[in-house]
Amino acid sequence: MRQNRMILPTLREVPKEAEVTSHKLMLRAGLVRQLVAGVYTYLPLGLRVLKKIENIVREEMNKSGAQELQMSVLQPAELWHETGRWDDYGPELVRLKDRHSRDFVLGPTHEEVITSLIKQEINSYKKLPINVYQIQTKFRDERRPRFGLMRGREFLMKDAYSFHTSYESLSETYDEMYKTYNAIFNRVGLKFRPVQANAGAIGGSGRNHEFMVLADVGEDTIAICDHCDYAANLEQAEAHGAEVAAAGAAPSTEAPAFEKIHTPNTKTIDQLVSTLGLEAQTFFKTLLYVVDDKPVAVVVRGDHEVNELKLKDLFDAKTLELADDATIERVTGAPTGFIGPVGLKNTALVVDKAVAGVQVGVAGANERDYHLQNVVPGRDFALERVADIRNVVEGDTCPSCKEGKIEFYRGIECGHIFELGTKYSVPINATFLDENQKAQTMIMGCYGIGVSRIMSAVLEQSHDDNGIVWPLSIAPFQVHLIPVNVKDETQVKVAEQLYTRLQQQGIEVLMDDRDERAGVKFKDSDLIGLPVRVTVGKMAGDGIVEFKVRQTGESKELTLEQAFEEIT
Ligand code: ATP
Ligand code: MG
Ligand code: MG
Ligand code: MG
Repeated sequence: MRQNRMILPTLREVPKEAEVTSHKLMLRAGLVRQLVAGVYTYLPLGLRVLKKIENIVREEMNKSGAQELQMSVLQPAELWHETGRWDDYGPELVRLKDRHSRDFVLGPTHEEVITSLIKQEINSYKKLPINVYQIQTKFRDERRPRFGLMRGREFLMKDAYSFHTSYESLSETYDEMYKTYNAIFNRVGLKFRPVQANAGAIGGSGRNHEFMVLADVGEDTIAICDHCDYAANLEQAEAHGAEVAAAGAAPSTEAPAFEKIHTPNTKTIDQLVSTLGLEAQTFFKTLLYVVDDKPVAVVVRGDHEVNELKLKDLFDAKTLELADDATIERVTGAPTGFIGPVGLKNTALVVDKAVAGVQVGVAGANERDYHLQNVVPGRDFALERVADIRNVVEGDTCPSCKEGKIEFYRGIECGHIFELGTKYSVPINATFLDENQKAQTMIMGCYGIGVSRIMSAVLEQSHDDNGIVWPLSIAPFQVHLIPVNVKDETQVKVAEQLYTRLQQQGIEVLMDDRDERAGVKFKDSDLIGLPVRVTVGKMAGDGIVEFKVRQTGESKELTLEQAFEEIT
């Protein structure tokens, strides 16, 4: 492509609205332009990068045996009512009405649509397992869209959904996706870590990993062991906490013995504790400082502002001292309606009865201003034992290998894989007939990648003071060809020849045929950051060009033939 005609508006000045390096670079190098907060136009250079990332994702997904399809962005509200997410998803869900006043959403994710499709089209165990994916625009009305493509309100995601007859089969596909994600993130040139994620966000009962790109601007804090592969996200459950209520395990058949208690005006734990007549000190000591040999179970899901702050303070407390053998558990399944929006919205607080003689188990009643007392973990909902990631402090001994030291890093979540279980197939009633012609509920997994977010993540990791340093695999062009003076006929002739020849070899070349000063061209070239620069200058008459590698800065003079060899 010829730069002279291209919409490639580079900027000298650092745009004021951009806070982080990747955002500054994508504006300065003319990759994108903002239309409105969190919504972007991809300019030609940026679009080429996006398509390359997309294709790497597509190739690796296809290699894994997944099938590509494409679902609509516009989705009828009925489907979202079926799963309960119309009410649970919150303000991130973009809702709209058609001319007949029927409700619709713009898909933030596609579990509802795919599950209802598979329910229609697949009826027999013979057709399972199946893994389908799409690369499609998503809409989320994020509270704080920011950092360019990092947190958009309209963004590109690869989302895959698998359907199974058994948990073993789900586990196999999950492993396959885990491998595929590693391959994808390696190919796009990122330094990343798969980490154990908090189960709260989407709900579901099984394994759950995030693929974190290590970068200081990342919004997540992850604990990584310097010795083994232990890595976990410290993020607390948020956003869709209420969904946990609808997830997983079946309600217990044993009659519940808990008591529903009116707890008005309990916006903080202190207030709750006092309304319930508990001794606050005991309560908190139990929660945080018990050093008895008794297990402690704490389950906290909060998105209430006041509450979140308090709980966060608790968990950030560096003085946290739990007995070595204290057990921290999380809810993995609860009967619908058991835990959910309550006085402490979306918060369930459970203290194991066995602890230090404190006879208390408190949970939200899924009803504003009510709580349940005397709930029994294990009876009233399932608890899964987890390594207590919140209990981990920088410099601690690794809870997994007990040898390494824990270090904290910041991470950008670029991918997320889940063993969903039956969270969506139950409400949508997606079943298949087994060998005995008996209807069974399908078991699901889901797997997301932030395709556009990857572009931001790469820029955070691959740049220097002069601009972008593209990894070859996703560079918008491989070669930047620069005739220094376009008024010099020899230079132009040599450059044109090289341009044609390289293109014939399938090399992607951007030729800076602009009538600009050399300094301007070189500055722009560094900023745009293509892997190889070939400068056609004063020596062009002798058939000599300069060959420079962006990443190392290493440069040499080569004959045209050598340069051609070097590139191809
Ligand atoms: P986050 O924690 O950053 O809000 P999420 O957990 O809500 O992300 P998922 O529902 O797991 O996101 O979606 C799958 C992937 O889509 C994420 O791992 C991320 O890479 C990408 N993604 C999610 N939200 C955005 C966004 N607002 N802009 C760009 N990419 C996003
Ligand atoms: Mg989110
Ligand atoms: Mg997340
Ligand atoms: Mg996620």
